[in-house]
Amino acid sequence: MAESTMADNHTKGEMHGCIVCGKLYELYAVYDPDGRFIESIVMSAGGKSVPHPARPLVACEHHTEDEIERAVQKVYGDHADAED
Ligand SMILES: [Zn+2]
Repeated sequence: MAESTMADNHTKGEMHGCIVCGKLYELYAVYDPDGRFIESIVMSAGGKSVPHPARPLVACEHHTEDEIERAVQKVYGDHADAED
């Protein structure tokens, strides 16, 4: 197998709500061949991807980093279920 491993990643179009206010954005989520989430690329104007190790997250560009961080903590922070 001499092919680039990059080609094995697959990209899926998904709709996700802003982590802060719930506004919907269209994004591409990139997964590796094992189905593990790698990164997301927001396609809609006005949105940006929020780095998260396990899932595609999006937020409006006008939210501050502090606002976004607190929202992520509120939704995913206390459950600590990211590490399987
Ligand atoms: Zn928002």
